[in-house]
Amino acid sequence: MKNIDIVIPVISAQYSELTPAQQHLVDEARAATLRSYAPYSRFNVGAAILLSDGTVVTGANQENAAFPSGTCAERTACYYAGANHPDARFETIAIAARGTDSLEVEHPISPCGACRQALLEYEKLAGHDVPVLLAGRDEIYILPSVKALMPLSFTEF
Ligand SMILES: [Zn+2]
Repeated sequence: MKNIDIVIPVISAQYSELTPAQQHLVDEARAATLRSYAPYSRFNVGAAILLSDGTVVTGANQENAAFPSGTCAERTACYYAGANHPDARFETIAIAARGTDSLEVEHPISPCGACRQALLEYEKLAGHDVPVLLAGRDEIYILPSVKALMPLSFTEF
């Protein structure tokens, strides 16, 4: 028996330190939070995905009175991309959130486990690591891949 430490590489950056392309994707994710339908949680999440054909696809969380029927921003975006751009591959993902006070959340937001699993499959389809930008108001986490978000993930499919 032995201990295994799993290390998740994360770069913490300020918005001004991002490349123009990264800034644009964060801007798109932040703008998508305004299209959230979240009357129950009042927590508005936006996701933006840069595709290999140059398209930026966005999604926002869509809640429902029958709670399990709602969908997170990340899955709204990735399933839209899959349904409408089936030949394009994911290049970069950005996620942002806005709270009840309509202000961006202070700390970087991180996707739920179900969204991590969904995004992981699209990363596998891309055939390369897909960087993830987790945007807080002042600090942005940059992860090198979706699989970095989900160690020990289910990948046998
Ligand atoms: Zn989710």
